[in-house]
Parts: sequence; C-alpha cells; structure tokens
Amino acid sequence: MNSSLYIHIPFCKKLCGYCDFFKTMSLAHKGEVLRRIAEEMAERAPMLEGTVLRTIYFGGGTPTVCTPEELGSLLRTAERLFDCSEVEEVTVEANPDDLTEEYLEGLRGVGVNRLSIGIQSFRDEDLAFMNRRHSAREAVEAVERARKAGFDNISIDLIYGLEGVTLEQWRYSVEQAVALGVEHISAYHLTIEENTLFGKRGVRTAPEELSDKEYEVLCEVLRGAGYEHYEISNFALPSRRSKHNSAYWRGTPYLGLGPGAHSFDGKWTRSWNLPSIKTYLEGDSLESETLSSSERYEETVMVSLRTSEGVDLTQLEAQFGPAKRAEFEAISKEFLTRGILTKNGEKIAFSEASWLISDSVIAEYF
Ligand code: SF4
Repeated sequence: MNSSLYIHIPFCKKLCGYCDFFKTMSLAHKGEVLRRIAEEMAERAPMLEGTVLRTIYFGGGTPTVCTPEELGSLLRTAERLFDCSEVEEVTVEANPDDLTEEYLEGLRGVGVNRLSIGIQSFRDEDLAFMNRRHSAREAVEAVERARKAGFDNISIDLIYGLEGVTLEQWRYSVEQAVALGVEHISAYHLTIEENTLFGKRGVRTAPEELSDKEYEVLCEVLRGAGYEHYEISNFALPSRRSKHNSAYWRGTPYLGLGPGAHSFDGKWTRSWNLPSIKTYLEGDSLESETLSSSERYEETVMVSLRTSEGVDLTQLEAQFGPAKRAEFEAISKEFLTRGILTKNGEKIAFSEASWLISDSVIAEYF
C-alpha cells in the first residue's frame, strides 16, 4: 500500500492577514522542534509499517525558514525509517523571498523536486494589503530562479475574493501565473476567521456575485491555457497533478509530524498534534479519534465530489455496502437530470460549471 509523509514547520517571519494556519513568528524553538520532529518520526514510524512512501510534503508555516540542510536531515531520517525506494514527489512550501539561487540549489541537492510557492496575487497593492513579505516582481523572479535551478515542477497559490479587487485585476493575476508557465496552480477563496489579522481588522470578502465571476475567469483562463481542473481549487498541466494532495483525497494513509499536523491511518483513525509548540516539545500533544462508518462515508463523498474524478460507485459499495451506494445514487438522480452532476461509467462527478454551487449540493447528501 502507498503512503505519504507530511511535516509541519510552524514558523513564519511575518504574519499574513488572512492566515489561520498554526504558526509562530518566534524562531527561538526552531532547533528543538526540528529535533522533536525527527524523534516523533521514529516513534510513530510503525503507523506506516508495510507501506511504500510515495510523497513527502513540508508545509507550514514557512518551511523555507529552515536551511536546506535542516530539511535534508529530516529527509535522511525518513529514508532510514520508511521504504522510500519509490518516493516520487518531495514538495516544500516556499515563500518567494527565501528562494535565493543558493537556497534553491541547496533544496535540489537534498532531494526536493517540487516547490509550492505562496504568491497569492501578482499585484503589489493586494500583496501589501495581505501583509505578504514579497512584491509581485520578487514573486516572478523567484519562479524564474527556481526554473534556472532545475525545478520543473512548480506550484503557486493564488487567493481570490479580496474586497476591492476588480474582475480585470484578478484576471491579470491569473494571466501572470499562466505566463510564468508553472505546472500547478491552487486558487482559494479568501475566508476570514475571527482570530486572524483580517478578522480583527474587520476586513470583508468581495461580494459573492463578484467572487463567483472571479472563479469563472480563473477556470476559463486556465482551461484555455491547457490546465486540467482536477479538484475544486486545483489546476494542473497534464501529468502535473499534486500526487501528495491526490493521495489525501483517495484516502491513503499519511503520517503528519510537527505541531498541529494531522494523520490518517487509511482506515478509521485520525490523529493530530495539538497546535502548541510547548505541548509538542513536552511530547504530549497527540490526540486521536476513531471515525464511525457514517463519518467515513460522509468524508469520502465530500472529498471525492470535490475532485474531477468524482465518486466511484463500485468503490463506494465495496467500502460502505450496497445500501449506501443506493442512497448515494438516489440523491444524485435529480442533480444528474439537471446537469449539475455527470455520470461516466461508474463515476459520478460535478460538471465544472457546477462546482460553484457544490457546497449546497454536497449538503444534500447528509
Ligand atoms: S500564509 Fe503562510 S507565510 Fe503567511 S502567515 Fe500563514 S503560514 Fe505564514
């Protein structure tokens, strides 16, 4: 069986206005956290026993606050503990202004083969508003340097739904992403959580009518440029889908290390480290829950419907029984008639135009 490894690096040099991920701006405990992650990897390695690791992902926070050697050291630990003979993808989430030529060469040297660069917008006004560390020019230059360093699998993140941004300004950012020729684009609608800088400042999102149009522009421009829209928020050039995220969506086991990181055993158990550096360093932060069959069913339907592959009826039946398959088919019937869902063999999926209303449709299943 295949598996994945996720390593959460919970440090950032600056806090972005919208960010709700677990992170801290103090780097004081960086060394201790990295040492504890290596220990945790050894302690929890039995969870992936008998599996073959296919993807490794450093997320955060900002993994590029670590030196390539620090990230490489965790990769070498993984190689000692797991079957890494078939690892295809080693991704590092990166901030553009950390990606100097030397740093990029260092990452390549320790075995990183994919970058996920947080860019969010190609307009300086948006970047300043979001409290990002870089300018649009710096973002473009970072991608260009990554190319020169030999990275041929680059993903970037964009954010839409920012209040005050016009449709044409958003189109500009999407077109800039395309012009850079990156292999993968993730585009997320801005959400505002109370505990973020935006939440505290009372920032609002764009009106729904506008952000719906932004989503349509995103789909239209990327489709025209040859990107496959393979998940509601993710687009890839052919054969460049994120293998790591695709593994999550297929429900394969993954081990998540570091404060706030989540794991799944591929069956019924989810576990997570509490989002606290102190508790993590004390070695006492792991919590877990066993999913019921109906929780697992809901999760499978929700996650699968967000992908272009959709729900595989044969697999659904094998996993949850004929009654659940029948229930799913009965609810899907009306959406199929209305063209909101499409059926291809045993697979039922959203039509691209209907992803905008996917939340309300998915809610009908539960
Ligand atoms: S968006 Fe990324 S870089 Fe910005 S604060 Fe959040 S984790 Fe840090």
